[in-house]
Amino acid sequence: MEAALKTYFGYTGFRPYQREIIQKIMEGRDGLVVMATGSGKSMCYQIPPLVAKKTAVVVSPLLSLMQDQVMSLQQRGVKSDYLGSTQMNSSVASEAEKGLYDVLYMTPEKAISLPSRFWSNLQASGICLLAIDEAHCISEWGHDFRPEYKQLHSLRDHLVGVPFVALTATATKRVRGDIATSLNLSSPHIAIGSFDRPNLFYGVKSMQRSMSFISELVKDVSDTCTVGGSTIIYCTTIRDTEQVHEAMIAAGIKANIYHGKMGNKAREESHRSFVRDEVLVMVATIAFGMGIDKPDIRSVIHYGCPKSLESYYQESGRCGRDGLPSVCWLYYQRGDFGKADFYCSEATNATQRNAIIDSFMAAQKYCLLGTCRRKSLLQYFGEECATDCGNCDNCKSTKTERDLSKESFLLLSCIKSCGGRWGLNMPVDVLRGSRVKKLVEKNYDKLPMHARGKDYPPNWWKALGGLLIAHGYLKETANDGYRLVSVSPKGAKFLSDGGTPLFLQPTAEMIELEDHGSS
Ligand code: ADP
Ligand code: ZN
Repeated sequence: MEAALKTYFGYTGFRPYQREIIQKIMEGRDGLVVMATGSGKSMCYQIPPLVAKKTAVVVSPLLSLMQDQVMSLQQRGVKSDYLGSTQMNSSVASEAEKGLYDVLYMTPEKAISLPSRFWSNLQASGICLLAIDEAHCISEWGHDFRPEYKQLHSLRDHLVGVPFVALTATATKRVRGDIATSLNLSSPHIAIGSFDRPNLFYGVKSMQRSMSFISELVKDVSDTCTVGGSTIIYCTTIRDTEQVHEAMIAAGIKANIYHGKMGNKAREESHRSFVRDEVLVMVATIAFGMGIDKPDIRSVIHYGCPKSLESYYQESGRCGRDGLPSVCWLYYQRGDFGKADFYCSEATNATQRNAIIDSFMAAQKYCLLGTCRRKSLLQYFGEECATDCGNCDNCKSTKTERDLSKESFLLLSCIKSCGGRWGLNMPVDVLRGSRVKKLVEKNYDKLPMHARGKDYPPNWWKALGGLLIAHGYLKETANDGYRLVSVSPKGAKFLSDGGTPLFLQPTAEMIELEDHGSS
């Protein structure tokens, strides 16, 4: 094993977990590997074929990712190629059947459509493992569900006795369970590495999509550029991508753009010059994704909140792979959390809709929380950590919290009186003194808090609601694509104590709305 590592990859020792994982594979045992991006998962399926002199088949979701890996393996003298879903590659398939490859990549579509003759021939020639990369795609609870992944278990019938190894960088307990069940893994060897990336700083800023916030963004980026570091800015829409890109150019920063509507050639060129440091800034949608093997990205900024913490962790994790200090900033606007509705409309069943809402709620909570960001991220992935990290905005900042007891008391008691059967809109309408039909029908206009919240506009109250959710005074639950907000036990105690002092840090939106109100 060590010899193969040295000969083909030039490395002198294994990283944590690698040796153990490889050993279990060589013993023929199924495996489930959950390790952070950049921790060296690929090596776990690339070494066994070189030692056993048998083929490793790797199922991977993206052509670009496979192409990168194949190229890099070929350069190292490892016999490798890939089978895509569409291209004519009968020669690769027939070479593969003869066992001529060390590492053979294929898309899931291809894997489930290959004839059983292919698999029996390959097994006769020698196959040492089947790896399923990005295995979270199996789960509807994951952030990137792909139906073809769910059918991969059918390969087990063709490959009796061959170890199946599922690998992913992000998986909650529920997703891990789904992976093991769906692939029918038999007492798999489970390796779960730490998700902590101590060299990454995590920070969140609330914003309003406007020029003034874009200029703040430009300033953050130009600071990184000044010291020669590269930055990826992830936007949630192509429109944002274009706007931010224009602002960078206007500020004299050399920046590339990358999104799904660009042609292949333009995207490749954009990717290439960024990886070669000819341009330090990449403004992109998440189409600029897997397979970016650039170790020295110094900062990843999200302009707009991503749809789940899994995606956030994966995207932000693309910086600092070389272990040097790097920063991850997330800029969010409250409206970003409402995009769940859009994704829900595309989902086909209640489980999917609730999974989408759950993911958005977790991301929202991360944005709004006032405690250590790393701790909350790691806890989300099932990792306990005892101490605050000292390397996130909340650990470092001198907080500007304010006494919001009175307002919180009003909103909480209003939500309680409305019975917790609504989202935030109805209780906020009540506070604002609305007399819409639905409200009057329920007699909410008779509530003592009706029209007591006219000092602040509706969005201010909704933003406060978000804060109270993040701090656990309100509970938000997903109910078939809708979010219901109710008072949590913590909130109930706050109410019964008569509103003990509650200090919270208002969001940028709240502050902006207050400024407008007073002018
Ligand atoms: P992952 O698949 O977990 O995202 P990769 O397999 O792409 O991670 O590995 C990340 C980087 O670490 C690669 O550049 C890889 O060559 C390097 N690497 C992997 N294993 C070792 C090792 N044992 N020693 C040194 N570098 C390694
Ligand atoms: Zn911290």
